Amino acid sequence: MADDASPTKPIHIMGAGLSGLAAAIVLAKAGKEVHVHDVRADSGARFDGDFQALENWSMDADFFQQLGAWGLDASTFKATTFDTVDLIHPDDEITQARTDGVAYRIVERGTSDHTIDQGFKRQAIEAGAQLHYKSRVKEEDCTIVACGPKGTSAVAYGEIFKTDHPNHIAFQLNDRLAPGSYTYLIIIDGVGLICTCLWRKQRKSDRFLNETIAWYEAHYPNLNRQPIKRVGGKGDFTINRNYKQDGRYYVGESGGLQDFMWGFGMRMAVWSGVLAARDILGQGDYEQEVRKQLMPYVRTSVANRWLMNRVGDRMFKRMCKAWMRDQEKRGDGLIWIGKLFRPTLFKRLLYRLVSPFMLVKDPKAHGRGVRRMPFRGALKRDVWEPSPAAQAIGQQWDTIRRGGGHVSFADDKESDATGQENTAISS
Ligand SMILES: Cc1cc2nc3c(=O)[nH]c(=O)nc-3n(C[C@H](O)[C@H](O)[C@H](O)COP(=O)(O)OP(=O)(O)OC[C@H]3O[C@@H](n4cnc5c(N)ncnc54)[C@H](O)[C@@H]3O)c2cc1C
Repeated sequence: MADDASPTKPIHIMGAGLSGLAAAIVLAKAGKEVHVHDVRADSGARFDGDFQALENWSMDADFFQQLGAWGLDASTFKATTFDTVDLIHPDDEITQARTDGVAYRIVERGTSDHTIDQGFKRQAIEAGAQLHYKSRVKEEDCTIVACGPKGTSAVAYGEIFKTDHPNHIAFQLNDRLAPGSYTYLIIIDGVGLICTCLWRKQRKSDRFLNETIAWYEAHYPNLNRQPIKRVGGKGDFTINRNYKQDGRYYVGESGGLQDFMWGFGMRMAVWSGVLAARDILGQGDYEQEVRKQLMPYVRTSVANRWLMNRVGDRMFKRMCKAWMRDQEKRGDGLIWIGKLFRPTLFKRLLYRLVSPFMLVKDPKAHGRGVRRMPFRGALKRDVWEPSPAAQAIGQQWDTIRRGGGHVSFADDKESDATGQENTAISS
């Protein structure tokens, strides 16, 4: 296999997820011989029907326009646009954040035809890339490393269900149901997802999902939820000294290119895949472009995460109020959230100050100087007994699972800050 990007040698990409496929499409379109290897049986298999949000607030450019400019076709997958979201405050008050533009687009991850993973896969095949599934290759033998998360900095769990509720999105800041993070409800065309994200490592983590579902059932009484399966996975947030090392490009989550604050990593995954491909085609320097185009956002998200780690529901409530006040003043709910994600001098200084204490060295990272955000430990306030409603939901799921209900993250592993795998994620 090729381990460099000389003009005639085939290019091997490790990982057929969003970042790997984005790179493959650009390279194959330019006439390169491209081989993409994935350990799983198909692109998107890691996610199995999970809904994810393509954020559209962190910069002025619309993400679909960016895709078009990179030669990627957004019409190859289903994307549902939303301009309103229920913002659920930690004290259960529900307000709406609105915009005249596109707040975000919900896409499905997985192996169904309409998922973003399959849309990218079709584009890669059409461009001439050769995809090899259930293929195990060595990192040293690949030019682009696009394997997604390795270590664990945070996890998310969700339940997918049938529903007759109209399309809807809700986003809840709640430190009890989602330690250090948020929960969400997404309903699209008769399929719903309730998910909780855990930025602190927990025992019996399924109680957080059960309690979250119980919360939504109590506050959205017309869900008529019929559980199908449970999904989820881990996020890996790292800062790397080098994004290109020994001729290899580290893209997407393999390069730690993620949103440390809330885990909106898809945009950066695709973007970094495109930047790596362009470097190989002689259209820019990956290392420089990552630093210029992506790192200001990554660093801002590190600073944001540091702040988030220091607060709880009282500050989450203040954030919700500030967001709504800003929306009232400016007539657009995207501005406040957009500003939170955008680089500022304050966030840059904060990053410099806090990142040495916040990140832990990964000794196994091929000399790339990888520092990972560790999965933080639980706090005293994370210890609580599930409500009777949550217990009933847990029992309902046990019955469904025994009857064949699928859990997609059962083969995902949690790892500590050094990237060492230890315990399986509990389901
Ligand atoms: C539950 C959950 C919800 C999320 N929600 C959102 C969201 O709403 N919005 C958002 O923007 N982001 C979200 N993210 C983050 C987003 O999914 C990732 O940031 C993004 O998929 C990263 O893309 P990637 O190409 O780096 O990795 P992936 O898309 O995960 O692709 C990696 C691929 O590499 C393969 N692979 C792994 N190891 C190897 C190996 N050794 N050899 C070969 N192949 C290998 C995997 O099978 C996989 O196909 C979420 C993540 C999780 C876990």
